[in-house]
Amino acid sequence: MKKPLTVVSALALACALAACSDTKIETRTGGAQGERSPESKAVKVEDRGDFRVSYGGAKKKELAELRQDLLENRVLEETADGLNRTLALPEDVTLSFAECGEISAYYLPDERRVAVCYELVDELYDAFRDGAGADEELDERVVGATVFILFHEVGHALVRVYRLPVTGREEDAVDQLSTYLVTDGTEEGEAAALDAAESLYRDENAGSGEGEPRYWDEHSLDQQRFYNIVCWVYGQNEEKYRSIVEDGVLPAERAARCAEEYAQIERSWTTLLKPYLKAE
Ligand SMILES: [Zn+2]
Repeated sequence: MKKPLTVVSALALACALAACSDTKIETRTGGAQGERSPESKAVKVEDRGDFRVSYGGAKKKELAELRQDLLENRVLEETADGLNRTLALPEDVTLSFAECGEISAYYLPDERRVAVCYELVDELYDAFRDGAGADEELDERVVGATVFILFHEVGHALVRVYRLPVTGREEDAVDQLSTYLVTDGTEEGEAAALDAAESLYRDENAGSGEGEPRYWDEHSLDQQRFYNIVCWVYGQNEEKYRSIVEDGVLPAERAARCAEEYAQIERSWTTLLKPYLKAE
């Protein structure tokens, strides 16, 4: 990374989460950014915690360099700041990068820690290197997809910490939350979701070819996750993303349902998170 990145900005994030107070649709169409409805001010958990950040050490040279870049660009701080302004937490949750020895990201309930592996960020660089133009564009795509992954893991954390009900696959539910949070009406946010989707699609296509797809996995298949995320990005602004359907990326049969799907995601997550929004 050569220069500071346009991380999905903390401001935009706070707005997306403020949407939990039902003002998101209005703010998108020109309302005051970050406005919250009065009824959202009741906090039903004691706000005794914060999102904290940790950049774990990295021994491998290239990962140590990556760590330094992420540190300088305050990727975790930006994310944590937005969350802290918005959500009351009963206990601390740490957002971390870590050297894991595998390409992965997870939430560790015992430590109340989200971990995104440096190896995964490094892999995103490999995935996007061919398609991206300038270094700056490559950095933006990688950071965007990384922020999406962070929010996915934050979703797992919120489910545990707030003991939220989940029916159906939690993995799909937190992909929905992450998409909802990043699609805050900003170009960077929508691009982050689409880049995360693209990285999943590439993963599947670059698979080892060993045996059949992981039908047994707790996640939907990577390509299903790709189509889900693309559908929801399209669904939150059909006019803007018409080309996704016209170009044949998203089949019309699914596209017809996407606005409704997105509205349902918005309704569900705003209902679930409303009790935990911080008072102004
Ligand atoms: Zn997950």
